[in-house]
Amino acid sequence: MLKNNNREKDRRELVDLLIGRGIKDEKVLSAILKVERHKFVLDAMQIHAYKDIALPIGSGQTISQPFTVAFMTEKLNVRKGMKVLEIGTGSGYQAAILMEMGAKVFSIERQHDLFNNTRALFEKNGWRVHMRCSDGTIGWDDYAPYDGIIVTAGGPSIPMSLLKQLAVGGRLVIPVGDREDQVLKIIYRATETEFDEAEVPEFKFVPLIGRNGWKKA
Ligand code: SAM
Repeated sequence: MLKNNNREKDRRELVDLLIGRGIKDEKVLSAILKVERHKFVLDAMQIHAYKDIALPIGSGQTISQPFTVAFMTEKLNVRKGMKVLEIGTGSGYQAAILMEMGAKVFSIERQHDLFNNTRALFEKNGWRVHMRCSDGTIGWDDYAPYDGIIVTAGGPSIPMSLLKQLAVGGRLVIPVGDREDQVLKIIYRATETEFDEAEVPEFKFVPLIGRNGWKKA
């Protein structure tokens, strides 16, 4: 019943809540208003689709909390036509937000089930996202450099391979910490050799598993 309903009223309420929590970027807010989060959520979770909470999506993973998606996207400073690499496709919601904002999106997921489900969802809806099933901690060299890189799982450190694939003037947004709690690092590549770094505390992500992440799931 709920899945066929457009649920715009629910999204308006979510946007108001995000404004109340400090999200200011009009482009981010308008993407949250447009992208139907309920399409990225399991049937059993439909009732919760527009709550500001993370939800299970299967394979032990989650669709991130809308505030986290909005906050990270705001920090990425997305502009139309910009090339963005996402590590951790998951449900595809974050990728859809970036696409809605006019970014050219490349997204990597390491888990085959999630990768296949989300690719099918994108195809069904005619959404163009370049997807790959592999270890995102080594990036996607073929299409580098990227104007933005967003990592939606928490790692122990910043993978050097991702820094190398970031364009000068680009930003990398990545949660870093232990397996339970992370800070969100925002890295700006000022020149070929100089990077500026800022961080925001208290985030909780599923682990980033891979060669340059945690070694075990
Ligand atoms: N962006 C997702 C969304 O909108 O639903 C969030 C998904 S969840 C918080 C993080 C995802 O990162 C999981 O699907 C997990 O399998 C994936 N992941 C973890 N380590 C990865 C890696 N090294 N490469 C690619 N994906 C990874």
